[in-house]
Amino acid sequence: MTADEQRETHERQLEKYAALAVEVGVNVQPGQKLVVMAPLFAADLVRKVVKRAYEIGARYVHVEWNDDAVTRTRYELAPADSFKEYHIPFRARGLEEMAEEGAAFLTVVGNNPDLLAGIDPQRIQDNTKAGNEALKGFRQYMMADKVSWSIVAVPSQEWADKVFPDLPAESRVPALWDAIFKSTRIDRDDPVKAWREHVDNLNKKAARLNEKKYKALHFRAPGTDLTIELPEKHYWYSAESRNAKGHMFIANLPTEEVFTAPLKTGVNGTVSSTKPLSYGGVLIDNFSFTFKDGRIVDFKAEKGYETLKRLIETDEGSRCLGEVALVPHTSPISQSDLIFYNTLFDENASNHLAIGKGYAFCIEGGKEMDEKELAACGLNDSLVHVDFMIGSADMDIDGILPDGTREPVFRGGNWAF
Ligand code: ZN
Ligand code: ZN
Repeated sequence: MTADEQRETHERQLEKYAALAVEVGVNVQPGQKLVVMAPLFAADLVRKVVKRAYEIGARYVHVEWNDDAVTRTRYELAPADSFKEYHIPFRARGLEEMAEEGAAFLTVVGNNPDLLAGIDPQRIQDNTKAGNEALKGFRQYMMADKVSWSIVAVPSQEWADKVFPDLPAESRVPALWDAIFKSTRIDRDDPVKAWREHVDNLNKKAARLNEKKYKALHFRAPGTDLTIELPEKHYWYSAESRNAKGHMFIANLPTEEVFTAPLKTGVNGTVSSTKPLSYGGVLIDNFSFTFKDGRIVDFKAEKGYETLKRLIETDEGSRCLGEVALVPHTSPISQSDLIFYNTLFDENASNHLAIGKGYAFCIEGGKEMDEKELAACGLNDSLVHVDFMIGSADMDIDGILPDGTREPVFRGGNWAF
């Protein structure tokens, strides 16, 4: 391919990707508003997203830009105590108002995974906590799927450098685009149709697990022997979500997972990570947790121990789990054999758990319950929700029925049914 042909192909793929984000991801409806939060380096995609959204009838598209360099400068130079405060309350109110109106929210990620390396972890923790508290009302709309929301990725140079350190510098971003397009099925003739089929498959797995109503799952792999009880009213969810108006959307592009919430007090044993976790710009690697009656009672980390410690100590609920997700080892992302250093991709390469808040919709009727009712069902609550990867080709999972009978759910890292 000549350079011109390459550029044209990339343009076409970007257009397909923008259409997928708008029509399948947030599924913008005629007359609806759309909020896009994106880094500056994603401008090419964002412009196409805005165009597509208006083409299919969006009433207004609001774009909120962010910039890694500006973020880093603040962390380096702003006064330490300023991180305890959320400085743009009008933003929190505005987002909440737009959510209340039924706007859709598209987030574009891909920022430098090491952006905050070397920054005092206290600053990061304070900032995250202040932001989470200020945006709690807004995030509630997303966590309960009241509004349509979706996350897509665009490579930054720094992210591409991290994923493809052995390629020549100028080939890294194109290589990461290629990996993103493959894992989001943009390389197929009709990505929207490919997504429909994929989502159908995931729905079937979730339906089967919902019929079985396992009392617990038992995970076994090198470094892992963990039993996770499930709430009586647990509900297995997959890619497809529905907002308060009944419109479908897909919260993560890509997505390969089928997931539910663990019983807050029912997690026992030890689990080891199988991929590094990029959290708040810091890399945590080779870590493990030991649980007793749902709480983390011990943990280790070869890399990023301090950051992990602060994450776990955020609040009461950050010592417990809020999500258990099943992803086959044969997923396209897993097959790419890449470590993306980005949860959106890495979580879809692997079975994973999340520390912190559980999703209300993982409890039957949970969307209509208040916090107390959800807690009574065994759902964990926290300011944080952080996925970490535990799956591998060596992982077996048993489903345990209420009478104690065991059935294979995963064998050798893949679905056993
Ligand atoms: Zn997940
Ligand atoms: Zn999650």
